[in-house]
Amino acid sequence: MLSIEDNVNQIRERIANAAIRAGKQPEDIVLIGVSKRVDEDRIRRAVAAGITILGENRVQEAKGKIASLGTPVSWHLIGHLQSNKVKYAVSIFDLIQSVDSVSLAQEIDRRAAQINKVADVLVQLNIGQEATKHGTTAAELWTMLGHMSTFKHIAVRGLMAIPPYMSDPEDSRPYFGRMKELFEQAKTKNIPGINMQYLSMGMSHDFEVAIAEGANMVRIGTAIFGERPYNPI
Ligand SMILES: *Cc1c(COP(=O)(O)O)cnc(C)c1O
Repeated sequence: MLSIEDNVNQIRERIANAAIRAGKQPEDIVLIGVSKRVDEDRIRRAVAAGITILGENRVQEAKGKIASLGTPVSWHLIGHLQSNKVKYAVSIFDLIQSVDSVSLAQEIDRRAAQINKVADVLVQLNIGQEATKHGTTAAELWTMLGHMSTFKHIAVRGLMAIPPYMSDPEDSRPYFGRMKELFEQAKTKNIPGINMQYLSMGMSHDFEVAIAEGANMVRIGTAIFGERPYNPI
């Protein structure tokens, strides 16, 4: 069995190759180690192997981990955020990748204002329009960005998506391609306060296809940490 360090090195190499094939530099792609439901000992090993950004999907779980592991690394929220958790989320995360409605954005703006912070966020799209997934629709994106540009304590830094699961990652290519189109469109609109820097898409089984289609931020859990324990919640 490969160690977490071996996994990190292999993933880095695959990211580098995918970047070069896409005409980019390896360092153009930001790697998020998805540490949800992973114990602290294994997270420490990934950090020792060079992981600098960790992705968590629950505010409560992240709070404990951040308290004990600290912030030599950055922490991103990649899971759905409920409005009653915004207060904590705004104070502990460096990037909230899962903003999926104007009302959530408004609450983030309000809570960020209270602590004199400008919260960096990504807008999450439900690009496959799946009932089981969160995210705004492509049609709603422009209205949402328009509202968000008026919020002084939010800085939109890009877009995030989790396309429908496909056993053959090649089948996800059209979803990734659509995300890249929206990302480029959003750039050309030059909306004040909206900075389209990150396109966060691609997970363990499909990140190479995502990079080929234009992802510059990938979120990888299983391929670094191994299978996660069953989640009873
Ligand atoms: C769990 C999760 C990932 C990582 O998935 P893996 O298949 O384990 O790489 C990425 N993004 C989000 C939003 C997740 O919830």
